[in-house]
Amino acid sequence: MPSHVSISEVGPRDGLQSVKATMPTAHKCAWITALHAAGLREIEVGSFVPARLLPQMADVAEVIRHALTLPGLTVMALVPNLRGAEAAMAAGVHRIALPVSASEAHSLANVRKTREQMVDEVRRIVARRDALAPGVGIEAGVSTAFGCTLQGTVAEDDVLRLAADLARAGADEIGLSDTTGMANPAQVRRLFQRVRAEIGERTGAAHMHNTRGLGLANCLAAYDVGVRTFDSSQGGLGGCPYAPGASGNVVTEDLVYMFESMGVSTGIDLETLMAARAALQAGLPGEPLYGMTPDAGLGRDFVYADGRTPRDGRLGAAGTAA
Ligand code: ZN
Repeated sequence: MPSHVSISEVGPRDGLQSVKATMPTAHKCAWITALHAAGLREIEVGSFVPARLLPQMADVAEVIRHALTLPGLTVMALVPNLRGAEAAMAAGVHRIALPVSASEAHSLANVRKTREQMVDEVRRIVARRDALAPGVGIEAGVSTAFGCTLQGTVAEDDVLRLAADLARAGADEIGLSDTTGMANPAQVRRLFQRVRAEIGERTGAAHMHNTRGLGLANCLAAYDVGVRTFDSSQGGLGGCPYAPGASGNVVTEDLVYMFESMGVSTGIDLETLMAARAALQAGLPGEPLYGMTPDAGLGRDFVYADGRTPRDGRLGAAGTAA
């Protein structure tokens, strides 16, 4: 039996909040449907931040309402604070993602709160969750875990202390995010190992960026030390508006290709996934999309981890199956 990883698609949140244009609601829903059809079973569909700060996300409740109709899909939304968490729970999400920065400078710039104030916020959110919607999972993502463009080096001990504080505050999972694209594989391996030694099974997803071309290498390094959930976005859409120069999440298509070709099952059909790029592009005309696999196609010899062979190995950049 092949080993398995879970890929959490963050494009509709991380991607869409980083581009200038706003994708119309109907297009967002069509794109999420296409991602679900490709086999993605966890999608971060939006964020609950004030519309004056992120007009791209003003329709998040409506997008969630649609996503909740897709069978077997874990619907996730990002929230910056308790108010956002309450709105997300009212909208019916299954999981909440909460970024907490390991860099004090990034935390103040991003949410105008210190790290300690954010841990307190997580504690309040957990209490409210327990009272209102006990089934909802809370995943804290330690952002700038591998370095910060504002502060520079982020001490590993700071990341470990924050992860332990977040676990004590009641977060179900604590992941590590390379918000600024500064991580390297040796660092990823070491930090995930240290975090796992600190908080055990609460260790969550690897959220890697491809800013310097190391996104896949960093995901593989995390996989090697036991990480089994990975965030990525279709076409590499996304970055961080408060980390200048940080653009591009790991490309979902390339990540799926890497794992499937090495015999690790993702549950995702790459051809259907690449076809979903058309839905993304229809909603964001002219926006550049990244990814090597969509350009090259799957190739004649590609075999999925479960032994399936592609329907059409020539599938290419246009994302249309012959
Ligand atoms: Zn990201």
